[in-house]
Amino acid sequence: MSTERISQGIAELSRWIDESNAGRDPEAATWARLAKITEEAGEVVAAHIGATGQNPRKGVTHTRADVEEELLDVALTALAALEHLRGHDARSLELLDDKLRRTLDRAGR
Ligand SMILES: [Mg+2]
Repeated sequence: MSTERISQGIAELSRWIDESNAGRDPEAATWARLAKITEEAGEVVAAHIGATGQNPRKGVTHTRADVEEELLDVALTALAALEHLRGHDARSLELLDDKLRRTLDRAGR
């Protein structure tokens, strides 16, 4: 799948979420989109705790694959929120690429 097509898919996902919440106050809807990123980040930690059996009461409840899935949820949720903020211009991966280049520059790579 091309990066343009992926960005279009992320924009479509974001549109679907917005349309499903069309009755909400716009500011509340934006806060919900941003809060969802934190919710997904918490799921990463919960999955890692479950994959490593850190909670003796629960034992091993997750796998490494679960942790990886949750990390992808974080990335997708963040990129979809970016599309939400930008009015679904389908440029999320282009912007991610630019961000990566600037970060690598700062790292001297
Ligand atoms: Mg998740």
